[in-house]
Amino acid sequence: MSTHYDLLLIGAGHAHLGVLRRWALVERPPGRIALLSPGPVAWYSGMLPGLLAGRHRAEDCQVELLALCRAAKVELIIAPVESLSAAQQQVQVADGRTFSARWLSLNVGAGIRTPAQQGSAMQLLAVKPFDDFLQGWQRWQAQPEPMAILGGGAAAVELALAVADKVPQLALFCAGHLLDGLTPGLRLRALGHLRQRRVQVREDCPISHINDDCLFSGTEPVWRGTRLLLASGAAAWPWLAHSGLGCDEQGFVLVAPTLQSYTQPSLFAVGDCASLPGARKSGVYAVRQGPVLAFNLQAALRGQPLKAYRPQRHTLALLATGDGGALLDWHGHSAGGQFYGRWKDFLDRGFIRRHRL
Ligand SMILES: Cc1cc2nc3c(=O)[nH]c(=O)nc-3n(C[C@H](O)[C@H](O)[C@H](O)COP(=O)(O)OP(=O)(O)OC[C@H]3O[C@@H](n4cnc5c(N)ncnc54)[C@H](O)[C@@H]3O)c2cc1C
Repeated sequence: MSTHYDLLLIGAGHAHLGVLRRWALVERPPGRIALLSPGPVAWYSGMLPGLLAGRHRAEDCQVELLALCRAAKVELIIAPVESLSAAQQQVQVADGRTFSARWLSLNVGAGIRTPAQQGSAMQLLAVKPFDDFLQGWQRWQAQPEPMAILGGGAAAVELALAVADKVPQLALFCAGHLLDGLTPGLRLRALGHLRQRRVQVREDCPISHINDDCLFSGTEPVWRGTRLLLASGAAAWPWLAHSGLGCDEQGFVLVAPTLQSYTQPSLFAVGDCASLPGARKSGVYAVRQGPVLAFNLQAALRGQPLKAYRPQRHTLALLATGDGGALLDWHGHSAGGQFYGRWKDFLDRGFIRRHRL
Protein backbone atom coordinates (compact mmCIF):
# COMPACT_ATOMS: atom_id res chain seq x y z
CA MET A 1 0.00 0.00 0.00
CA SER A 2 1.26 3.40 -0.96
CA THR A 3 1.49 6.20 1.62
CA HIS A 4 -0.45 9.20 0.33
CA TYR A 5 0.50 12.88 0.58
CA ASP A 6 -0.90 16.14 -0.68
CA LEU A 7 2.55 17.08 -1.97
CA LEU A 8 5.82 15.21 -2.35
CA LEU A 9 9.03 17.18 -2.84
CA ILE A 10 11.48 14.83 -4.53
CA GLY A 11 15.17 15.74 -4.14
CA ALA A 12 16.74 18.42 -1.93
CA GLY A 13 18.01 20.52 -4.82
CA HIS A 14 18.60 24.28 -4.68
CA ALA A 15 14.99 25.24 -5.48
CA HIS A 16 13.46 22.90 -2.88
CA LEU A 17 15.83 24.25 -0.21
CA GLY A 18 14.49 27.72 -1.02
CA VAL A 19 10.90 26.47 -0.89
CA LEU A 20 11.44 24.86 2.55
CA ARG A 21 13.14 27.96 3.89
CA ARG A 22 10.27 30.15 2.74
CA TRP A 23 7.67 27.84 4.26
CA ALA A 24 9.62 27.74 7.51
CA LEU A 25 9.90 31.53 7.73
CA VAL A 26 6.78 32.86 6.03
CA GLU A 27 3.82 30.56 5.39
CA ARG A 28 3.42 26.88 4.67
CA PRO A 29 0.61 25.66 2.39
CA PRO A 30 -2.02 23.37 3.89
CA GLY A 31 -1.83 19.57 3.68
CA ARG A 32 0.51 16.63 4.30
CA ILE A 33 3.89 17.26 2.71
CA ALA A 34 7.10 15.21 2.60
CA LEU A 35 10.61 15.61 1.18
CA LEU A 36 12.37 12.57 -0.29
CA SER A 37 16.16 12.66 -0.23
CA PRO A 38 18.83 9.94 -0.57
CA GLY A 39 20.70 11.30 2.46
CA PRO A 40 20.25 13.58 5.50
CA VAL A 41 22.17 16.50 3.96
CA ALA A 42 22.13 18.52 0.76
CA TRP A 43 25.56 19.37 -0.67
CA TYR A 44 26.22 22.82 -2.09
CA SER A 45 28.18 22.29 -5.32
CA GLY A 46 29.58 25.83 -5.40
CA MET A 47 31.78 24.96 -2.40
CA LEU A 48 32.97 21.55 -3.61
CA PRO A 49 36.10 22.91 -5.34
CA GLY A 50 37.01 24.73 -2.10
CA LEU A 51 36.50 21.48 -0.17
CA LEU A 52 38.86 19.60 -2.52
CA ALA A 53 41.41 22.42 -2.34
CA GLY A 54 41.34 22.11 1.46
CA ARG A 55 39.77 25.54 2.00
CA HIS A 56 36.44 24.28 3.42
CA ARG A 57 35.42 21.44 5.72
CA ALA A 58 32.72 19.00 4.54
CA GLU A 59 30.24 20.32 7.12
CA ASP A 60 30.70 23.87 5.76
CA CYS A 61 29.31 22.74 2.39
CA GLN A 62 26.16 20.95 3.57
CA VAL A 63 22.65 21.83 4.65
CA GLU A 64 21.13 19.56 7.33
CA LEU A 65 17.70 18.60 6.04
CA LEU A 66 16.04 17.48 9.27
CA ALA A 67 16.17 20.92 10.92
CA LEU A 68 14.94 22.64 7.77
CA CYS A 69 12.09 20.15 7.29
CA ARG A 70 11.06 20.39 10.94
CA ALA A 71 10.92 24.16 10.71
CA ALA A 72 8.79 23.91 7.55
CA LYS A 73 6.59 21.13 9.08
CA VAL A 74 7.52 18.79 6.27
CA GLU A 75 8.23 15.06 6.80
CA LEU A 76 11.71 13.93 5.76
CA ILE A 77 11.92 10.51 4.10
CA ILE A 78 15.50 9.40 3.61
CA ALA A 79 15.44 7.14 0.56
CA PRO A 80 16.47 7.57 -3.07
CA VAL A 81 13.67 7.42 -5.63
CA GLU A 82 14.19 4.56 -8.06
CA SER A 83 11.15 4.91 -10.26
CA LEU A 84 8.29 7.29 -10.92
CA SER A 85 4.91 6.59 -12.46
CA ALA A 86 3.44 9.80 -13.81
CA ALA A 87 0.08 8.14 -14.48
CA GLN A 88 -0.27 7.02 -10.84
CA GLN A 89 1.48 10.08 -9.32
CA GLN A 90 3.60 7.60 -7.41
CA VAL A 91 7.28 6.99 -6.68
CA GLN A 92 9.06 3.87 -5.52
CA VAL A 93 12.17 4.08 -3.35
CA ALA A 94 15.15 1.73 -3.08
CA ASP A 95 13.68 -0.43 -0.25
CA GLY A 96 10.46 -1.02 -2.24
CA ARG A 97 8.18 1.43 -0.36
CA THR A 98 5.86 3.52 -2.52
CA PHE A 99 4.59 7.06 -1.96
CA SER A 100 1.90 8.85 -3.92
CA ALA A 101 0.67 12.43 -3.91
CA ARG A 102 -1.87 14.78 -5.43
CA TRP A 103 1.03 17.08 -6.41
CA LEU A 104 4.66 16.15 -7.09
CA SER A 105 7.70 18.39 -7.42
CA LEU A 106 11.00 17.14 -8.84
CA ASN A 107 14.34 18.82 -8.02
CA VAL A 108 16.68 15.86 -8.37
CA GLY A 109 19.54 17.39 -10.35
CA ALA A 110 21.32 15.19 -12.86
CA GLY A 111 24.09 12.65 -13.25
CA ILE A 112 27.20 13.06 -15.39
CA ARG A 113 27.66 12.08 -19.06
CA THR A 114 29.99 9.11 -19.38
CA PRO A 115 31.81 7.97 -22.53
CA ALA A 116 31.55 4.35 -23.67
CA GLN A 117 34.12 2.14 -21.94
CA GLN A 118 35.69 -1.16 -22.98
CA GLY A 119 37.84 -2.96 -20.46
CA SER A 120 38.25 -2.00 -16.83
CA ALA A 121 41.83 -0.71 -16.67
CA MET A 122 40.63 2.89 -16.27
CA GLN A 123 38.81 3.88 -13.07
CA LEU A 124 36.04 6.43 -13.67
CA LEU A 125 34.92 8.85 -10.97
CA ALA A 126 31.90 11.07 -11.71
CA VAL A 127 31.70 14.34 -9.79
CA LYS A 128 28.03 13.62 -8.95
CA PRO A 129 26.46 12.30 -6.76
CA PHE A 130 28.78 14.12 -4.34
CA ASP A 131 28.75 11.49 -1.57
CA ASP A 132 30.02 8.81 -3.95
CA PHE A 133 32.48 11.23 -5.53
CA LEU A 134 34.01 12.28 -2.20
CA GLN A 135 34.44 8.67 -1.06
CA GLY A 136 36.14 7.79 -4.36
CA TRP A 137 38.31 10.90 -4.21
CA GLN A 138 39.53 10.00 -0.71
CA ARG A 139 40.58 6.57 -1.98
CA TRP A 140 42.44 8.18 -4.90
CA GLN A 141 44.11 10.67 -2.60
CA ALA A 142 45.56 7.88 -0.47
CA GLN A 143 47.75 6.99 -3.49
CA PRO A 144 47.94 9.89 -5.93
CA GLU A 145 48.48 8.98 -9.59
CA PRO A 146 48.36 10.87 -12.89
CA MET A 147 44.79 11.76 -13.77
CA ALA A 148 42.66 13.24 -16.53
CA ILE A 149 39.50 15.33 -16.22
CA LEU A 150 36.77 15.31 -18.85
CA GLY A 151 34.78 18.52 -19.27
CA GLY A 152 35.19 22.07 -20.43
CA GLY A 153 32.69 23.97 -18.29
CA ALA A 154 33.09 25.97 -15.10
CA ALA A 155 32.92 22.85 -12.89
CA ALA A 156 35.74 21.09 -14.79
CA VAL A 157 37.98 24.17 -14.64
CA GLU A 158 37.35 24.71 -10.92
CA LEU A 159 38.01 21.03 -10.17
CA ALA A 160 41.24 21.04 -12.20
CA LEU A 161 42.51 24.10 -10.34
CA ALA A 162 41.46 22.67 -6.98
CA VAL A 163 43.31 19.36 -7.41
CA ALA A 164 46.25 20.31 -9.68
CA ASP A 165 48.68 20.33 -6.73
CA LYS A 166 47.37 17.01 -5.37
CA VAL A 167 48.17 14.73 -8.32
CA PRO A 168 51.52 14.10 -10.08
CA GLN A 169 50.15 14.99 -13.56
CA LEU A 170 46.84 16.40 -14.67
CA ALA A 171 45.29 16.63 -18.14
CA LEU A 172 41.99 18.32 -19.01
CA PHE A 173 40.04 17.31 -22.14
CA CYS A 174 37.14 19.29 -23.55
CA ALA A 175 35.04 18.70 -26.65
CA GLY A 176 35.02 22.32 -27.82
CA HIS A 177 36.53 25.52 -26.45
CA LEU A 178 37.12 25.76 -22.73
CA LEU A 179 34.33 27.74 -20.99
CA ASP A 180 32.35 28.04 -24.21
CA GLY A 181 29.53 30.54 -23.84
CA LEU A 182 31.34 32.63 -21.21
CA THR A 183 33.32 35.82 -21.87
CA PRO A 184 36.47 35.23 -24.02
CA GLY A 185 38.54 37.13 -21.44
CA LEU A 186 37.49 34.65 -18.77
CA ARG A 187 38.67 31.74 -20.94
CA LEU A 188 42.09 33.38 -21.35
CA ARG A 189 42.40 34.00 -17.62
CA ALA A 190 41.38 30.41 -16.87
CA LEU A 191 43.90 29.06 -19.41
CA GLY A 192 46.59 31.19 -17.74
CA HIS A 193 45.80 29.73 -14.30
CA LEU A 194 45.72 26.17 -15.69
CA ARG A 195 49.09 26.69 -17.44
CA GLN A 196 50.61 28.07 -14.24
CA ARG A 197 49.46 24.94 -12.37
CA ARG A 198 50.90 22.73 -15.14
CA VAL A 199 47.53 21.31 -16.22
CA GLN A 200 47.77 20.06 -19.83
CA VAL A 201 44.67 21.39 -21.58
CA ARG A 202 43.38 19.77 -24.79
CA GLU A 203 40.55 21.81 -26.35
CA ASP A 204 38.46 20.61 -29.34
CA CYS A 205 39.20 17.05 -28.33
CA PRO A 206 35.90 15.18 -27.82
CA ILE A 207 36.52 11.86 -26.09
CA SER A 208 34.53 9.24 -27.99
CA HIS A 209 35.42 6.16 -25.96
CA ILE A 210 37.76 4.52 -23.48
CA ASN A 211 39.62 1.36 -24.34
CA ASP A 212 41.41 -0.22 -21.38
CA ASP A 213 43.85 2.46 -20.16
CA CYS A 214 43.50 4.74 -23.17
CA LEU A 215 41.23 7.68 -24.00
CA PHE A 216 40.31 7.95 -27.69
CA SER A 217 39.10 10.92 -29.69
CA GLY A 218 37.66 9.12 -32.72
CA THR A 219 40.47 6.80 -33.82
CA GLU A 220 43.23 8.88 -32.17
CA PRO A 221 44.58 7.69 -28.80
CA VAL A 222 44.99 10.89 -26.78
CA TRP A 223 45.86 9.89 -23.19
CA ARG A 224 46.99 6.84 -21.27
CA GLY A 225 46.37 6.41 -17.56
CA THR A 226 44.14 4.72 -15.03
CA ARG A 227 42.15 7.55 -13.46
CA LEU A 228 39.51 9.68 -15.16
CA LEU A 229 37.41 12.27 -13.36
CA LEU A 230 34.13 13.07 -15.13
CA ALA A 231 32.79 16.62 -15.06
CA SER A 232 31.44 16.30 -18.57
CA GLY A 233 27.97 17.85 -18.36
CA ALA A 234 24.56 16.83 -17.08
CA ALA A 235 22.98 13.47 -17.94
CA ALA A 236 19.32 12.93 -17.07
CA TRP A 237 18.51 10.16 -14.56
CA PRO A 238 17.22 7.21 -16.62
CA TRP A 239 14.12 6.77 -14.42
CA LEU A 240 12.75 10.11 -15.68
CA ALA A 241 12.54 8.88 -19.29
CA HIS A 242 10.74 5.73 -18.06
CA SER A 243 8.22 7.69 -15.97
CA GLY A 244 5.74 8.45 -18.72
CA LEU A 245 6.50 12.19 -18.46
CA GLY A 246 7.16 14.21 -21.62
CA CYS A 247 10.96 14.60 -21.83
CA ASP A 248 13.32 16.28 -24.30
CA GLU A 249 15.66 14.21 -26.47
CA GLN A 250 18.21 14.08 -23.63
CA GLY A 251 15.67 12.78 -21.11
CA PHE A 252 15.06 15.98 -19.09
CA VAL A 253 11.44 16.77 -18.09
CA LEU A 254 9.83 19.31 -20.43
CA VAL A 255 8.20 22.05 -18.38
CA ALA A 256 6.03 25.11 -19.09
CA PRO A 257 6.95 28.56 -17.68
CA THR A 258 4.80 27.73 -14.62
CA LEU A 259 7.37 24.91 -14.02
CA GLN A 260 4.65 22.28 -14.56
CA SER A 261 5.28 19.25 -16.76
CA TYR A 262 3.69 19.78 -20.18
CA THR A 263 2.21 16.30 -20.10
CA GLN A 264 1.38 16.08 -16.37
CA PRO A 265 0.36 19.46 -14.93
CA SER A 266 0.12 17.97 -11.41
CA LEU A 267 3.91 17.52 -11.48
CA PHE A 268 6.44 20.34 -11.26
CA ALA A 269 10.11 19.98 -12.23
CA VAL A 270 12.92 22.47 -11.60
CA GLY A 271 16.69 22.82 -11.79
CA ASP A 272 18.93 20.52 -13.79
CA CYS A 273 16.31 17.76 -14.17
CA ALA A 274 13.94 20.10 -16.05
CA SER A 275 14.06 21.33 -19.63
CA LEU A 276 12.87 24.89 -20.23
CA PRO A 277 14.10 27.25 -22.97
CA GLY A 278 16.49 29.88 -21.55
CA ALA A 279 17.12 28.10 -18.23
CA ARG A 280 20.65 26.71 -18.17
CA LYS A 281 21.78 23.72 -16.13
CA SER A 282 23.38 25.69 -13.35
CA GLY A 283 22.73 26.26 -9.67
CA VAL A 284 21.92 29.95 -10.08
CA TYR A 285 18.92 29.12 -12.31
CA ALA A 286 17.68 26.48 -9.86
CA VAL A 287 17.97 29.00 -6.99
CA ARG A 288 15.92 31.63 -8.88
CA GLN A 289 13.21 29.08 -9.66
CA GLY A 290 12.75 28.53 -5.90
CA PRO A 291 10.49 31.53 -5.11
CA VAL A 292 8.27 30.93 -8.17
CA LEU A 293 8.01 27.23 -7.29
CA ALA A 294 7.13 28.04 -3.66
CA PHE A 295 4.39 30.39 -4.86
CA ASN A 296 3.05 27.92 -7.42
CA LEU A 297 2.99 24.93 -5.07
CA GLN A 298 1.07 26.99 -2.53
CA ALA A 299 -1.33 28.22 -5.24
CA ALA A 300 -1.77 24.69 -6.63
CA LEU A 301 -2.66 23.30 -3.19
CA ARG A 302 -5.18 26.11 -2.74
CA GLY A 303 -6.62 25.94 -6.26
CA GLN A 304 -5.39 29.44 -7.16
CA PRO A 305 -3.74 30.73 -10.41
CA LEU A 306 -0.01 30.09 -10.97
CA LYS A 307 2.86 32.45 -11.90
CA ALA A 308 5.34 32.15 -14.77
CA TYR A 309 9.09 31.87 -14.21
CA ARG A 310 11.26 33.90 -16.61
CA PRO A 311 14.90 32.80 -16.79
CA GLN A 312 17.32 35.65 -16.06
CA ARG A 313 19.23 36.86 -19.16
CA HIS A 314 22.52 37.51 -17.34
CA THR A 315 24.10 35.56 -14.54
CA LEU A 316 27.12 36.27 -12.42
CA ALA A 317 29.75 33.52 -12.64
CA LEU A 318 32.53 33.25 -10.05
CA LEU A 319 35.02 30.43 -10.65
CA ALA A 320 37.31 29.41 -7.80
CA THR A 321 40.97 29.26 -8.84
CA GLY A 322 42.03 26.89 -6.04
CA ASP A 323 44.36 29.44 -4.40
CA GLY A 324 41.72 31.44 -2.56
CA GLY A 325 41.03 33.66 -5.57
CA ALA A 326 38.28 33.54 -8.19
CA LEU A 327 37.54 34.60 -11.76
CA LEU A 328 34.50 36.74 -12.47
CA ASP A 329 32.26 36.80 -15.53
CA TRP A 330 29.53 39.42 -15.65
CA HIS A 331 27.81 40.99 -18.68
CA GLY A 332 30.73 40.23 -21.02
CA HIS A 333 33.41 41.47 -18.56
CA SER A 334 35.95 39.32 -16.82
CA ALA A 335 38.22 39.93 -13.86
CA GLY A 336 40.14 37.85 -11.36
CA GLY A 337 42.00 37.90 -8.05
CA GLN A 338 41.84 37.30 -4.32
CA PHE A 339 39.11 39.92 -3.83
CA TYR A 340 36.71 37.89 -6.00
CA GLY A 341 37.65 34.76 -4.08
CA ARG A 342 36.65 36.41 -0.81
CA TRP A 343 33.42 37.63 -2.43
CA LYS A 344 32.62 34.10 -3.69
CA ASP A 345 33.28 32.71 -0.20
CA PHE A 346 30.94 35.31 1.29
CA LEU A 347 28.13 34.43 -1.17
CA ASP A 348 28.64 30.66 -0.78
CA ARG A 349 28.69 30.77 3.01
CA GLY A 350 25.63 33.05 2.88
CA PHE A 351 23.73 30.38 0.93
CA ILE A 352 24.51 27.74 3.56
CA ARG A 353 23.72 30.12 6.45
CA ARG A 354 20.33 31.04 4.95
CA HIS A 355 19.26 27.39 4.91
CA ARG A 356 20.44 26.56 8.44
CA LEU A 357 17.42 27.39 10.50
C1 LIG B 1 32.12 20.95 -8.96
C2 LIG B 1 30.91 21.72 -9.35
C3 LIG B 1 30.83 23.07 -9.07
C4 LIG B 1 29.73 23.80 -9.46
N1 LIG B 1 29.69 25.12 -9.15
C5 LIG B 1 28.61 25.84 -9.48
C6 LIG B 1 28.53 27.23 -9.14
O1 LIG B 1 29.46 27.79 -8.53
N2 LIG B 1 27.43 27.91 -9.51
C7 LIG B 1 26.39 27.32 -10.20
O2 LIG B 1 25.42 27.99 -10.52
N3 LIG B 1 26.43 26.02 -10.54
C8 LIG B 1 27.51 25.26 -10.19
N4 LIG B 1 27.55 23.93 -10.53
C9 LIG B 1 26.40 23.33 -11.21
C10 LIG B 1 25.39 22.94 -10.17
O3 LIG B 1 25.91 21.96 -9.32
C11 LIG B 1 24.11 22.36 -10.73
O4 LIG B 1 23.71 23.00 -11.88
C12 LIG B 1 23.07 22.52 -9.64
O5 LIG B 1 23.46 21.80 -8.48
C13 LIG B 1 21.72 22.05 -10.08
O6 LIG B 1 20.86 22.28 -9.02
P1 LIG B 1 19.59 21.40 -8.79
O7 LIG B 1 18.81 22.11 -7.77
O8 LIG B 1 18.93 21.10 -10.09
O9 LIG B 1 20.12 19.99 -8.28
P2 LIG B 1 21.20 19.58 -7.22
O10 LIG B 1 21.76 20.73 -6.49
O11 LIG B 1 22.14 18.67 -7.95
O12 LIG B 1 20.37 18.74 -6.18
C14 LIG B 1 19.71 17.57 -6.53
C15 LIG B 1 19.26 16.88 -5.27
O13 LIG B 1 18.48 15.74 -5.64
C16 LIG B 1 18.88 14.64 -4.89
N5 LIG B 1 18.62 13.42 -5.66
C17 LIG B 1 19.33 12.93 -6.70
N6 LIG B 1 18.81 11.78 -7.11
C18 LIG B 1 17.74 11.54 -6.32
C19 LIG B 1 16.79 10.49 -6.24
N7 LIG B 1 16.84 9.44 -7.04
N8 LIG B 1 15.83 10.54 -5.28
C20 LIG B 1 15.77 11.60 -4.42
N9 LIG B 1 16.64 12.62 -4.46
C21 LIG B 1 17.61 12.59 -5.39
C22 LIG B 1 20.35 14.85 -4.59
O14 LIG B 1 20.74 14.16 -3.44
C23 LIG B 1 20.42 16.36 -4.43
O15 LIG B 1 20.22 16.74 -3.09
C24 LIG B 1 28.66 23.17 -10.15
C25 LIG B 1 28.73 21.81 -10.43
C26 LIG B 1 29.83 21.08 -10.03
C27 LIG B 1 29.89 19.61 -10.36
